[in-house]
Amino acid sequence: MQRVILKPRKDIPVRAGHPWIFSEAIAQDASGTPGQLVEVMAAEGGSLGIGTWNGKTSIRVRMLNHDAREAIDAKFFTTRFRALEEWKRSRLPADTTGYRLVHAEVDGLPGLVIDRYADVFVFQLHTSGMERLRDLIVAALTEVFAPKAIVERSDLDVRKLEGLSDQPIAVRAGKIDGPVSFHEAGLTFLADTLEGQKTGFFLDQREARMTVGRLAAGKNVLNLFSYTGGFSVHAAKGGAAFVMSIDSSHPALKLAEEQFRANGLDPDDEEKCMFMQADIFKMLESSETPEGPYELIICDPPALAKRNEQVPQALKAYTELNTACLKRLQPGGILVTSSCSGRVDPEDFRNLLRHAAGRAGRTVRLLDWIVQPIDHAELLAFPEGRYLKTAVLEVR
Ligand code: SAH
Repeated sequence: MQRVILKPRKDIPVRAGHPWIFSEAIAQDASGTPGQLVEVMAAEGGSLGIGTWNGKTSIRVRMLNHDAREAIDAKFFTTRFRALEEWKRSRLPADTTGYRLVHAEVDGLPGLVIDRYADVFVFQLHTSGMERLRDLIVAALTEVFAPKAIVERSDLDVRKLEGLSDQPIAVRAGKIDGPVSFHEAGLTFLADTLEGQKTGFFLDQREARMTVGRLAAGKNVLNLFSYTGGFSVHAAKGGAAFVMSIDSSHPALKLAEEQFRANGLDPDDEEKCMFMQADIFKMLESSETPEGPYELIICDPPALAKRNEQVPQALKAYTELNTACLKRLQPGGILVTSSCSGRVDPEDFRNLLRHAAGRAGRTVRLLDWIVQPIDHAELLAFPEGRYLKTAVLEVR
């Protein structure tokens, strides 16, 4: 195994748990195959552990452990998976079988994401380092959980930066026959692990969905960017009078109807719910919102800033979107609004919501501020991992 030697004092963040070593921090670099394992040494000579190396990226090393005597083998992964499963399971809401088992850097496994939907596991390999460890990961999942199926969803743009080609979506073990059923806080959901977005479901919005479930009773609810209707099901089961789900994806809306059925709700009962395919940005340009007015609006758009240069444009789009939502609410109405762009920091989001309130001419009170749930929780040493925030606003 090659060694990477850091410049003086560059070991400090590594010792504090920061998982990345940038090329500027390195005095003596490795060379050769992207994804290989390297041992990282402090300037004074002490070993800091093992990481994966890529000479193509400015994040040169991603740390896997802090003791180079521990081999990166099947046991490494089985030990990590068992510990994460135990820690997360005991902290999730009751009757919840869908959760993120491995949240990459934050869980000590940079470049690896694993979502669990009951007995089905879906993983993503983001880096050349994890790419080389695929077989160990599949073997370890099999050993620890004996899953019904293991699916790979490495259809990710970020892989290009690593010099990796797109990996087809593949079933790596077992069999998948349609959407996978799992529970979230006692409700039933379906993840289309092969054709859905991401790994099939947006597990990270669990807390916000549960909040909506508690707020929805008796209300007319508008769920913007509904995907498969996660918020809509929580709202309907929470006693909403009517729930409108709007998204641009037809397959997502079809699955939303299935999810209503799976929870004993009738998706064809137009007195209670409707599903509409539309471009929301275009729709909000007009003054009318179909089937309104609404007393509770959920606004959970896709990440509007994926790169730094998109941030100003994204702040503008978020401001317009939230202005349009706030304008449509009567006094006492509630807006549950999210941003999942890591590049829009929480203070920016709060500020743009203040601007939106001003532009809508409304006095707005912040009832709640929701951050990443326990299975995606932030590491203080790694602010780069912070991305999701949701404001619960009441309009006066
Ligand atoms: N709230 C959802 C997740 C939303 S993800 C949940 O809890 O599961 C963002 C969604 O926005 C995706 O379903 C995507 O299809 C949709 N989307 C993206 N651009 C859109 C647009 N211009 N109009 C409508 N929907 C859009």
